[in-house]
This record gives sequence, structure tokens and C-alpha cells, in this order.
Amino acid sequence: MQMNEKLIISRPLYLKSDDCGYCHHEKPHSKAFPTKSWTNHYAQSKETPSSISLGFQVENMTVEQYDQLINKGFRRSGSFLYKTDLLRGCCRMYTIRTNMEMFKLNKEHRQTINKFNKKIGIEGHSDDSKGFELVKELRKMDQCDRLKIKYEDSVFTKRKYELFTKYQNHIHDDFKTSERSFKRFLCDYPFMQNGKIKDDEVLQYGPLHQCYYLDSKLIAIGFLDVLPSGISSIYFIYDPDYKELGLGKISGLKEMELSQKLGLQYYYLGYFIEDCSKMSYKKKFGGEILNVVDYDYYKYDDIKSYMKDGALFAIKDGVNVVEEMYGVDGDEFKQATKYFKHWEGVDYGKISNDILDQDEGDVYGIPGVIPGVLPLQELANQWDTSRLKMLIFEDGFLRPIVYDLENERTKRVVLDIYRVIGLELLNQSVVFM
Ligand SMILES: [Zn+2]
Repeated sequence: MQMNEKLIISRPLYLKSDDCGYCHHEKPHSKAFPTKSWTNHYAQSKETPSSISLGFQVENMTVEQYDQLINKGFRRSGSFLYKTDLLRGCCRMYTIRTNMEMFKLNKEHRQTINKFNKKIGIEGHSDDSKGFELVKELRKMDQCDRLKIKYEDSVFTKRKYELFTKYQNHIHDDFKTSERSFKRFLCDYPFMQNGKIKDDEVLQYGPLHQCYYLDSKLIAIGFLDVLPSGISSIYFIYDPDYKELGLGKISGLKEMELSQKLGLQYYYLGYFIEDCSKMSYKKKFGGEILNVVDYDYYKYDDIKSYMKDGALFAIKDGVNVVEEMYGVDGDEFKQATKYFKHWEGVDYGKISNDILDQDEGDVYGIPGVIPGVLPLQELANQWDTSRLKMLIFEDGFLRPIVYDLENERTKRVVLDIYRVIGLELLNQSVVFM
């Protein structure tokens, strides 16, 4: 494997934040915990969970590797790859995806499209469902002389930054946008190349900026990754002066249609939080949600009752076994305690099943039980040091790891990475120590 095909990452970081960008730590006590037993367990406590994520800084990644990681619940923010701790965090962030087949067109969608088309001078359609062809109506937008949708490289320009600032100020009351934060969040990427699209065809997978120009003025940008299994939406901004066009809703439909047009299977809408009103539009796409137990997807309609009020769900053999697995007296904690004292040369210390009481002593060590992270007991079942081909970059040297000869810190990093991304990706990785 060439160096540019390697997954080059930092050691895993486990990051706790005092604020949450979604609920701003203002969620009622009864909804901040992952399951009923945890809510009861903390009934007398004033403390609630905050936002916690685990992730890596990524120096290089292929689009195929990212595709795999997205389907393990990761997302990227610039060159930082992360997923949240669904057990200890305040908001359950689930991977959601859809496509034209799963999508259920409703009156609101039809009205949004008709209104948009009418406003930019495209012949509209009646709002009733008769004869309304979604793809046809969306493609009319590409034929309009006033509107031009262009696919540009994921690079910084002053014009994009100004639009971002205007959008953040007006729509999110966010006045702290710096050029640096815009670049890091929406222009930086860890891939070797940009995405390229031409004539309904993917010429190259990768990140791109889908720029909407109305009468030659940049009015909106969709920040996208074009991946082998589909289009992944990172963020969308629009000029608040054009609010009445409903661009936020139009963009989602256009991005889904783009996935189909390019022959890609899915449209990834980013994370979905069931009890976050800003995200309720996502469930109207009729998509499916990633289950952390088997990394399989389940139709939103089939499992929405499990997710009610932002609860954690864990499906095993078709049944929601979240309490049995992750409840206060759940099996995951019981199993983990057998391994946590000392395993494979690493002292994990005391494993507490108290989710608010985290191991503060080790800033990078990830907890023993995290939904969507391989439990140590399962790792033990498949553990074979002769299969570990990971490289590390340490003290200016690149070298393969020899597990048994490594110090405890390196061993812990290897175990954590194995648990978080799995053996296949671990063996494609170079880790900066
Ligand atoms: Zn939150």
C-alpha cells in the first residue's frame, strides 16, 4: 500500500465539552440520559451529561476509507474525524441516510419546490399530488437561465467566507466566525483530491462546494463529499436576503437528486438528533438510521418509537435491547469489568458503570463501554497480535508496531484504535504518537 493510500491519523482523542451545539445543555433532566434506567439512576442528581465525542485528527484518508468510517457512525469536520459518545452525551447523534426510493414526497415538499420554481421564473406545477414528478420538477432548476449550480473545489474564497458570516450571523446568531474557523470547518479536507462532477458523471470522488448562483450572484453553498456509496452533506449556507426561496429545503432535495443522477446509492444527511427540532426535516426524507450494535441500517419509521425523546436504541436480532446492553445494570458493563483490571499489558484501572463519572486520569483513553465501539470482551475473542500491521510515527521515525515490545501507552493506543475503527482500517493506518 502506497503512503497516499494510508489512513494517517493522530491517536484517538476523547473530548468532553461543557456546551452542546444542539441543546446548549438546556435539555430537561428527563431527556438528557440515554435510557430509562439511567434517568432513574440520576433522578436525585442535578448533574446531566454534556457533549462528548471521540475522534482523530486526520492527515490523509482515501474516499473509500471515509466511506467505511461514515458507515461506522463517523463524520468529518474539516480534517477532524469524530463520532459522539451516545451513552454519556446529552444528544444522541445518529447517522441517517436516504435515497429516492426511500423518500416519501409530501405536500410540503411539493409546495417548497413549486414556490422556488415560481420565484425564479420556472413554470410551476399545481400543489396537488396529481402528476407531480419530483425529479422532473427538480431538474427544471438546472435548465433555468437565472440559476446556475456549479461544482467548485473545496477551497477558501473571500466571497464564500462573506456568505458564511452573513448566514451564521442572521440564521444562527453566531457572531464569532473567523476566516480560520470557516477554513477549518468547511474548506479543509484530509483527502488527496477534490471531487469532480461533469455531465451527470463522477469524474473523481472527493469534497466539493456546490455553489448556487442567481443572476450571477453567489446565494448558497452546499458543502459535500462525493463518496463511492453516495453524497454526504456536511453543511449548507444561504444568503438570508433570499430566505423566501426556501433554499435550506431545496438543497436537501437537490442533493438527494444529485446522488441519484450520479448513480450513487445513498444521500447521507449528516447526523440526526431525534429531539432537536432543527433536524426534524431530516426524518421527512424517509430515511434509515445506523444501529450501533451491528452497523446495519433500520428504516426510521420502524424504529422511531425506540428513539423517542432522544433515547438510545440498540437493536440485536431485530429487538431493541438497549437496557439489557447499556442500562445501569446492563451486560456491557458486567462483561467489561472482567477485562478491565489488566488486559494485554494495559491497566485500564477501575471500570465504573457510572456514566457521569469518567476516567479523568487518562486524557486520551476511551472508556470501556461506548456504543458503537468494540467492547474489550469481543476484542479479546479475536485478538491475535500477529495480525496487527499498523505503523506508528514516533520521535521522527516511521515503524511497524511490535505489540508485545511496545510500552503501555502505545499498547493502549493500539487497543483503542482497534476498538474504534476495526482491524481492517487499523492495518491501513499510520498513527502519530
Ligand atoms: Zn446536547
